[in-house]
Amino acid sequence: MITGRTFVLGIIGWPVEHSVSPAMHNAALTALGLDGVYVPFYVAPPDLEAALKGLWALGVRGANVTVPHKEAVIPFLSRLSPEAKAIGAVNTLVREDGGWTGYNTDGVGFVRSLEEELGLAVGGRRALLLGAGGAARAVAFALAGAGAGVITLANRSRERAEVLARDLARQAQAEVHVLPLEPEALAGALAESDLLINCLPVGMYPRVEEMPPVPVEKLSSNLVVCDLIYNPRSTRLLQAAQARGCRTLDGLPMLVAQGAVAFELWTGKSAPRETMRLAAEQALGRAGGGGFHGSPGR
Ligand code: NAP
Repeated sequence: MITGRTFVLGIIGWPVEHSVSPAMHNAALTALGLDGVYVPFYVAPPDLEAALKGLWALGVRGANVTVPHKEAVIPFLSRLSPEAKAIGAVNTLVREDGGWTGYNTDGVGFVRSLEEELGLAVGGRRALLLGAGGAARAVAFALAGAGAGVITLANRSRERAEVLARDLARQAQAEVHVLPLEPEALAGALAESDLLINCLPVGMYPRVEEMPPVPVEKLSSNLVVCDLIYNPRSTRLLQAAQARGCRTLDGLPMLVAQGAVAFELWTGKSAPRETMRLAAEQALGRAGGGGFHGSPGR
């Protein structure tokens, strides 16, 4: 029940109606008996600054930030966490000391999901990332921060991958390479990688028949294949990887883990992850479309 003491959390996005975060966070608030509520806020780009001031004036305690505002919010914040600064994008706002602090929990969410779902520590590992957009930047910095040995970036726009490679090289010890997003180049890199991580939206609902240009016959069974897409959970890439005997990880554990880190920043409480996972799965099921194709790929 909403009372005069209920604190408010939310998500700003455009669109925002398909987000599963309200279901996930409201389930977590209820499970812990916290007097809080998490609401979706539809914010069109020209209204972003006014929306942030409004959320502040209304006493909102924290918010997630999604497409297309993850980079655009930065000029309106008082502080950035070191991760958000390096990545250049924010997915979580926390009300702190007179202004919003911007965090990015996507990368740490990915690394945690690898550890928790597959028992895989990234120290010394060689990772091949498809993409150089916001999610790829978050994952690349988190891998580098967790001690990955080699990070190879393959992106459609080579220039964007080179910018990320330069940013990584300034801050991290990892060896960084850039490749074209083409089967021949990927074939060579796959032979020298422990992890393949798809950070492209290719294969996402509704275009579930699409797949990144990965030469499937080069996927060896000692490779771990991850897809950040969570709708559908079993993308064509993950299905092909499973057929080749690879261990796989879909995007839902990362979604839950990034949400859990945000929840902990807002509430100071340990997030009820299993509750959040169930709520996210149910919300995705209700959203229909991609839903679930086959196993979660663990
Ligand atoms: P983004 O910033 O828009 O970046 C998109 C990336 O995909 C860029 O590298 C872009 O290449 C590339 N790309 C787009 N369409 C392509 C195509 N048809 N062929 C080849 N490359 C293409 O998006 P994002 O925020 O990084 O999100 C990427 C994916 O990660 C989405 O599926 C999103 O749902 C997922 N994600 C999942 C989680 C999670 O918690 N599981 C969190 C964040 C994001 P160019 O640079 O050449 O344009």
